[in-house]
Amino acid sequence: MAVKLTHDRSYLYRRLAAACKPADRLTVSAWADRHRVLSSKQSGERGKWKTARNPILREIMDCLSVTSPISEIVVMKSSQVGVTEATVNWLGYIMDHAPAPTMVLMPTLESRDSWKVQKLNPMLTETECVRDILGGLRSRDAANSKDLIDFPGGILFLAGGNSPNSYAQKSVRNLIMDDLDRFPSEIGEEGDPVGLARGRLKAFSRSKLLLISTPTVKDASLIEREYQASDRRKFYVPCPACGEGQSLKWTNLKWNLAAELVWYECEHCGTCLEEHHKPAMLAGGVWKAENPDHRRRGYHLSALYAPIGLGPSWLDLAQQFVLARQDIPTLKTFINTDLGEPWEDQTSSLKSNDLLRRVDDMALRSIPPGILALTVGIDTQDSWLAITVLGWSESGHRIIDWHEIQGDTTRLEVWDELELYLNTPLLNSFARSMRYRGALIDSRGHRGEQVRNFVQRPGLKVPVFAGQGSTTRMGKAIASSPSYPDKTRRGKITRGGFGLWNVGTEYCKAFIYGALASDTDRAPEDRAFQFGQGLEVEYFDGLLSEVYDPEARRYVQKKGTRFRRNEPLDTLVYAWAVGAHREIMIGRTRQGKADPSYWKRLEAMLEQQNSEPSNLVADSDKIAGLNELPDKIITPNPTSPGRTAIAGGRISVGGLRRG
Ligand SMILES: [Zn+2]
Repeated sequence: MAVKLTHDRSYLYRRLAAACKPADRLTVSAWADRHRVLSSKQSGERGKWKTARNPILREIMDCLSVTSPISEIVVMKSSQVGVTEATVNWLGYIMDHAPAPTMVLMPTLESRDSWKVQKLNPMLTETECVRDILGGLRSRDAANSKDLIDFPGGILFLAGGNSPNSYAQKSVRNLIMDDLDRFPSEIGEEGDPVGLARGRLKAFSRSKLLLISTPTVKDASLIEREYQASDRRKFYVPCPACGEGQSLKWTNLKWNLAAELVWYECEHCGTCLEEHHKPAMLAGGVWKAENPDHRRRGYHLSALYAPIGLGPSWLDLAQQFVLARQDIPTLKTFINTDLGEPWEDQTSSLKSNDLLRRVDDMALRSIPPGILALTVGIDTQDSWLAITVLGWSESGHRIIDWHEIQGDTTRLEVWDELELYLNTPLLNSFARSMRYRGALIDSRGHRGEQVRNFVQRPGLKVPVFAGQGSTTRMGKAIASSPSYPDKTRRGKITRGGFGLWNVGTEYCKAFIYGALASDTDRAPEDRAFQFGQGLEVEYFDGLLSEVYDPEARRYVQKKGTRFRRNEPLDTLVYAWAVGAHREIMIGRTRQGKADPSYWKRLEAMLEQQNSEPSNLVADSDKIAGLNELPDKIITPNPTSPGRTAIAGGRISVGGLRRG
């Protein structure tokens, strides 16, 4: 029976209903203050949890409460700031107070197991109300079970995030992804781990997703990506001298020469603040959003905020920094784990739009004076081939062409087109024909067999090699001899058969990115890499698709769909590496020494004084043999002018080999 209540009576009923369920109003921080006991197994202090001891955690915990409308929380943090304990508090709160299906995802099963033993189990066995809920014996069972804990009204799944199975089937209301930056960036064929995790929450209208990590490398860090797409909160603490609020910044921490005296300089009044000022500053702190219109919460925590006795002091941090800055990987660890900030490599400062501005007036496929040799790098995909033609001068390089041959690469037509492309020389601005000195094709991936057949084609007029990225750290661009994958029946390798050339991809990328970064301050004519007109921003996204991780000591892919296509980088690596191949040796003697006379000889052949540079686009109609070429080769990219500046393969360049 429906009863229409007056305003006052409905209010009264609501108040009564709320009073009958007092537990619903409990926040996670209040629950922790009431129930949580810290054991000796955890770092820091034993005894009753006090949120006031580490006030920076209060708001983070409270948006995990059932009463909070916040559904996604991102925490980009340094280590040792207590976030893991706050997470465990939330799990205790869920079990005791707000039961629901819940999942904790760690990067691997191993990291899950050690987290369970070190962080979760002490809470399960030493927090009385949780122990009661699980029941004496059962709490020990719970402590022993690795992948799930059953409790009244809910279940807690504990999973390792490196397997697609971890994400399948289970539907939960609360989900924690801890140590997010250690997750694989792609889970199987299914893609982004955060997207997969979010899929687990769909069945619940008031779900919560908590993402936590120390960041790694800028642009390659998942937690940085997620934090950027949040309201980006920083903790503002009041200055004891002037009262102005500020977020603590590493640049304002100062120390004397010996790093024995350390102070924090207020950014407003310049007062030197000392460690003993910290408790009052933290107690008076508030979170402020940089990006307040965003619905998802983002929190950034650095060890500068560590309460006295619970983490490193300012003095500890200064001394660690002084030691760390002598060694790049150690410095990166310091920036990530103490400051909670992503490491910024010099290559992270390169931006696609900046490189786009380096594009000059000369069209792709035209060869300006000074470019005296050409090499080709080719990458194979299932449905296209990507090609970079690299021009070499005595002082640098130029991207001469960036081209894709579309088509199913299991079919011969695509490879026929590649053969024609490679066999067709380009004309330089002195109308001299230039054949490619060598080409290198990536044989990894699904098309190893096709690559193998291609490089052995008798009709190829340029040397073409099959390459693979080296699994060891090679200190050079390309191996001095190939490896032979074929074995005889007796297990002996068949020399002289099909050879695979290992490419020092890390070495090549370091060279290319280093050159691109140092070009920033150079005049266009002095740059180590020049780019022809027709290259677009997507090309440069691909070229800049990786960034160096000094800790892992390798290049890693940047996060974001615009960086998925890395063929511009891979093909440039191959085109550059093949220049150092023992049979190619551009600008070098057979022994690998720099050879200035190499360039003189080529210049005499290709840019003789009696021939004037010609305007290629205007002259292209007069070039003999042009009509013999199929259209698709002549104008691979109809949007870029100057593509017609190629001629048939009739002009011999055999003389070059003698050079
Ligand atoms: Zn001040």
